[in-house]
Amino acid sequence: MSYNSNNIFNKIVNKQISTNICAENNSFICVKDINPKANYHFLFISKHNIKDFNTSVNFDDLHSLILEVCTNNNIQDYQIITNVGSYQEIPHLHFHLLSNN
Ligand code: 5GP
Repeated sequence: MSYNSNNIFNKIVNKQISTNICAENNSFICVKDINPKANYHFLFISKHNIKDFNTSVNFDDLHSLILEVCTNNNIQDYQIITNVGSYQEIPHLHFHLLSNN
């Protein structure tokens, strides 16, 4: 299915909704999940109009931003999850970082 820009992450990325941004680079912004499932629950949201992991992105930018957030929060043990299809609630590419570290 094609990308539909009518979603909350598109509005966050385009600054139509004010949100606390924890970190960002050219490809991703990092925010805290509104409904955390662990002590640390960050979202890495693509700045581009991409629906899900089926489309490739600049994974070097994702990797470097994840490491930056881990360093800043002293996180060593963590999970990275991305949901596709029926597992995905918000149809705009994002990655979850979960940690109880
Ligand atoms: P998905 O199932 O799409 O991978 O997960 C979407 C995530 O976005 C959920 O963990 C949910 O708590 C989070 N979320 C939904 N709305 C908002 C919001 O407005 N702001 C933030 N920061 N997170 C949100």
